[in-house]
Amino acid sequence: LVGIKQAGLQEIYFGGDDPLLASTGVAGVYGRSGAFERVVGGLFRALARLRPGGAEVRDFPPVMSRAHLEACGYARQFPHLAAAVHTLMPVEEEGRQDHTASGQATDLVLTPAACYPLYPLLGKRGAIPQAGVIFDTRCYCFRREPSERADRLQAFRMQEFVCVGPERVALTFRNLWIPKMQSFADSLGLESSLVPAKDPFFGRMAPYLAQSQLDQGLKFELVCPVASARHETAVFSFNYHQDHFGLAWGLRDTQGITSHSACVGTGIDRLAMALFRAHGPEVGRWPAFVVRALGLN
Ligand code: ATP
Ligand code: ZN
Repeated sequence: LVGIKQAGLQEIYFGGDDPLLASTGVAGVYGRSGAFERVVGGLFRALARLRPGGAEVRDFPPVMSRAHLEACGYARQFPHLAAAVHTLMPVEEEGRQDHTASGQATDLVLTPAACYPLYPLLGKRGAIPQAGVIFDTRCYCFRREPSERADRLQAFRMQEFVCVGPERVALTFRNLWIPKMQSFADSLGLESSLVPAKDPFFGRMAPYLAQSQLDQGLKFELVCPVASARHETAVFSFNYHQDHFGLAWGLRDTQGITSHSACVGTGIDRLAMALFRAHGPEVGRWPAFVVRALGLN
């Protein structure tokens, strides 16, 4: 069994002598090793091979428009996870400069998921075709969830396949990708299970929003052991947003009907960790079929 040795301020070893994730002094923020990044590169290439024909690629930076994130309700539903970019310019207060204040706000936030920057761009493109549109997006994401647990990062990479189109098209897309990602996990030698899931909503309405998400089957996750054999963590998420983003961004088909959307998110860093946990610290000793699936041979 592969153990995790956590030395001092969280260096994460996954059994080997060199840390795969090196401490930066902040919980959930790590430097990645060469071996880890080699696997990450293999994962991105493998996901690109799964990309549906006709999908458009969008590689987003780790910051996005604050106005866009607010317009789709994220700041209201997940204010505890969202983080804005401030400069460190001292704030002028009664003629004196306060260097301890948090600085001056900008028009940027840290991107919390790879699909959020996509919908506002789509809003500017005109009617959505009846067959729907598909994107392959990726982004270095940030969520304010500091944790000592190796699988809960504050800064992590996410890849998503996203579909925007008529209700039936978006829902079919989401459902189709569940078995596809189960096969992908199998091809990597990971034992995963599918579970209904909910988002960590904020505030008084949170339990109702979460329950309604569960009742309507809007979110599923493929979970597998990531940081510990005893605990399974979401590596893939399958989300059906109904017309949430369609309404927020005025996305409509040629007949003027509001579009629905769905996204299939892969947590790249979690998936790489799950692989090291399952197959050991040395990629050279991983099963041949896994090495082949990642194109690492
Ligand atoms: P969780 O249930 O673990 O909080 P989530 O429901 O917030 O995850 P999504 O918002 O659907 O996850 O994000 C898509 C994918 O991004 C997840 O399936 C997961 O693999 C990855 N992810 C989410 N949060 C983190 C995190 N804090 N650290 C690393 N990866 C993450
Ligand atoms: Zn998404």
